[in-house]
Parts: sequence; structure tokens; C-alpha cells
Amino acid sequence: MSKIYGTIIIGSGPAGYTAAIYAARSNLSVLVLQGYQAGGQLMLTSEVENYPGFENGILGPEMMEKFEKQAQRFGAELLPEDVTAVDFSERPFKVTTDFGEYFGQTVIIATGASAKWLELPAEKRLQGRGISACATCDGFFFKGKDVVVVGGGDTAMEEASFLTRYANTVTLIHRRDTFRASKIMQERVLKNPKITCVMDSEVVDILGEQSVEAVKLRNVKTGKEQELATQGVFVAIGHQPNTSLFKDIITMDEHGYIIPVEHTMTNIPGVFVAGDVTDHRYRQAITAAGEGCKAAIDVERWLEAQG
Ligand code: FAD
Repeated sequence: MSKIYGTIIIGSGPAGYTAAIYAARSNLSVLVLQGYQAGGQLMLTSEVENYPGFENGILGPEMMEKFEKQAQRFGAELLPEDVTAVDFSERPFKVTTDFGEYFGQTVIIATGASAKWLELPAEKRLQGRGISACATCDGFFFKGKDVVVVGGGDTAMEEASFLTRYANTVTLIHRRDTFRASKIMQERVLKNPKITCVMDSEVVDILGEQSVEAVKLRNVKTGKEQELATQGVFVAIGHQPNTSLFKDIITMDEHGYIIPVEHTMTNIPGVFVAGDVTDHRYRQAITAAGEGCKAAIDVERWLEAQG
């Protein structure tokens, strides 16, 4: 058997790197399997203005490079590999990628979450050409344009309000006749003169070859279809935790978010969890980092208790 790490961290967003910094500083041997998106979700954004310590803001990728370097400084090993299978049936735990098998006394799951899409063929063709799942990242490109936001929860309300800073008009499309979002968020949207709401309607197609030109809507009650001209489609229908690897092994809620059973430890003793993969509520870099810190401290204490 090859080297046995004190902990293997799956994921390299704020949660994974913070766990690596804490675990490596406590003298554990640490392997971070960074995954398909080294640096995590913040690699997709420009300015991060709400992470304490950067009074003038910092670019997302630059911030994650700092996290990465800090983890390396204390000796964490990093590999840009995607985990394809885990075996938590005995210790040391086995974690497999396309490049090898790795063994750890403990594992920290920090695989984050990804935006959900409408699953329309047009989404693949037009992604980055007018279709987005992040107003913070892409709103700026829609200055003076007409855009639509799809969804009815808090995220959709937030995205719609945010986009009015740039867009000429924002049409919020929701397939039900009431929003799921909190009252305060709804009020903000309904009061905004730039936002129009189209209820009881779903997007059945997005039209345009090189860029978004229109959406085709179907009224779910009457079945009537109509086209609405637009240059941008922001899909805000929720996030999917990256947990398919752990299905039927680790306890999750009905949406696939991992539920820790004792502090940050999962139902499998020695397997811990941190960040957006266990958090559908806050979804922030600072909260993910905080949980990474907690998971590393829990790992250290748990290993100590094992003797
Ligand atoms: P993530 O950042 O999602 O990282 C998950 C990691 O897991 C990735 O490295 C991925 O490669 C890895 N992974 C997944 N599956 C596997 C696998 N099978 N094997 C190995 N690795 C795997 N938050 C803020 O606080 N401020 C902001 O301004 C802000 N702006 C944002 C802008 C955008 C566009 C987005 C998308 C999010 C933004 N957020 C912001 C939210 C913030 O990015 C997340 O809350 C945070 O990144 C969550 O950190 P995490 O470590 O839990 O997971």
C-alpha cells in the first residue's frame, strides 16, 4: 500500500484549502485532490468584495491562488485530479482518481455545489453567449440590454434585482403563480420599475444561433406559447451539491446535501464534511472557509482520540 495520509481532502474551494491549511499546520500529512475546478466556484467570478481582510476587494482567482499557496506553505500536497470512487468500508479509506489510488486515515469532503440548469439543448450551445447562472459574474456584459431571469426563489429575486443595475429591463419568469422567495425579497422585486414578472410560465426553448435572441415560453395553465425577445438568460433555479460519489454511503438530505451527524463528522466515523456541499443556506466563501477550519480541527481531535 502506498503512503497513508493523515487526511485526504476532496475539493479545493475555500473549504478544502482552509481545511488543508489547518490540518497541515497541525502536522498532519495532507493530500488535497483538487478536482476538475481547482480553486472552486470563485474561479468563475471577478471581484470578491465581502471576504474580510481585503478592504478594496480581490479577484476571485487571485484570492484562491493565495489560499492555495498558503496551504502549500505548510506542506499540503495538491493534485489536480478528480475523485472517481471512494471506499469508506475500512480504514485507511481509499480514494480513487483516474491517475491512482490514495489512502487516508481520514477524509474531508469539500466538493461544493454547482448551479442547476434547465436541461434544454440550447443551454450548451449558448452558454457564455448570453446564458449564465451568475448575475454577479456576467451582469456587467448586459449593460443596456433586455434580460430574463428564470426562477422563483430568493436567488432568482436577488439576481433580478442585481441585474437592474446594468440591464435595461429584467423579466422574471416563474412556472408557478406565487414565488417561493421570502416576502422582503419579493417586495423589493415587485417595487422595482425595471422588473416585470411573467407567472405560470416555463421556458421551453432559448432561440438564437450565435447569441441569445429570444426565449420561447409556455403558459403551464393554458398551454399557450409565446416568444419573448431577450439578449440574456439568467438561470436561477438552485444549486446541486456535488455528492453523487457518496450516494448510498453518506447520509444526505432529500436534495443531496450531506448532513453531518456530530459537529462536522458524517455518519462514517473518520469522514468529515465542509462548505457548500453541506450548506444550502449561506453559500459564501467565508462560511465555507469557516467550516473547513472546523473540519480540520475535528479531524485532528478525532485522530488523537483514536490513539
Ligand atoms: P467550491 O468552491 O464549490 O469548491 C468545490 C471544489 O470541489 C472544487 O475545487 C471542485 O474541483 C472540487 N470537486 C468537486 N467534485 C470533485 C471530485 N469528484 N473530485 C475532486 N474534487 C472535486 N461567495 C462569497 O463569499 N463572495 C462572493 O463574492 C461570491 N461570489 C461568487 C460568484 C460566483 C460566480 C459563484 C459561482 C459563487 C460565488 N460565491 C461567493 C460563493 C462561493 O464561491 C462559494 O460559497 C464557495 O466557493 C464554496 O466553497 P466550497 O469550498 O464549499 O466549494
